[in-house]
Amino acid sequence: MGWGYEPHEGYADEKWPDGHWTGGSGRSATDPDPLAYRASCSCGWRSEHEHPVPPRPESRDEATRETWFLQREGVYDRCQQDWNAEHFEGMLGYEPHQQLILGKSPGGPRHFLDGRPVNAGSALELLLEHENRWLPIRYEWSWQNDQPPTAHIALGVPPGAEGLTHLTVSFPLPPRAILRWPTRTP
Ligand SMILES: [Zn+2]
Repeated sequence: MGWGYEPHEGYADEKWPDGHWTGGSGRSATDPDPLAYRASCSCGWRSEHEHPVPPRPESRDEATRETWFLQREGVYDRCQQDWNAEHFEGMLGYEPHQQLILGKSPGGPRHFLDGRPVNAGSALELLLEHENRWLPIRYEWSWQNDQPPTAHIALGVPPGAEGLTHLTVSFPLPPRAILRWPTRTP
C-alpha cells in the first residue's frame, strides 16, 4: 500500500469531495478524485499537512492529462516525505553526529562526521548489528553528489604474505550507516 512495514506502514490518505478521509481503503474505478492527500501511518499517526490535489483537467489533450498526472504524483511523493520526516525518521532515533553529512569545503563537496571533515582514505568505524561491534573501514568517495561513498575493509593474509599481497572488500556506504571516528589508534 505505501511506505515501510507494519506496524508503521505509511500511506497517502485521501480526502474526498464530501470532506471525509478514506483512511487508506483501496480505491475503485468509480471513486471520485481526491481533493487532497495527507501522510498517514497504519499505527494511527496523521500528518497535519494537507496537500491539495489539482483538479483533473477537462481537456482530453494527452499532454495536459500527463502533466496533471505528474502533479498528482508529486503531491503523493510529498506525503511520503512528510511521513518520513515528521514520523518515521524521528522514531528511528538516528543521531546526526553519527551520520555522514554532505557539506561544502573550500575544495568542493565533502562529507563531515561529527563536525569533522572526512578526507579520502580516512579511517572510520562502522557500527555492525551484532553485539554493537564497530568495524574499521577506510573511506573513499568519488566526489560526485549522486554517488555514495565507499567503505574498504582490509582482509587478513598469512604472515608470509604480509606486504606482498593485499585483499580488500569494498561496498557502498548506505546513507543511514552509523559511523564514528576511531576511538584508539591501531
Ligand atoms: Zn506509524
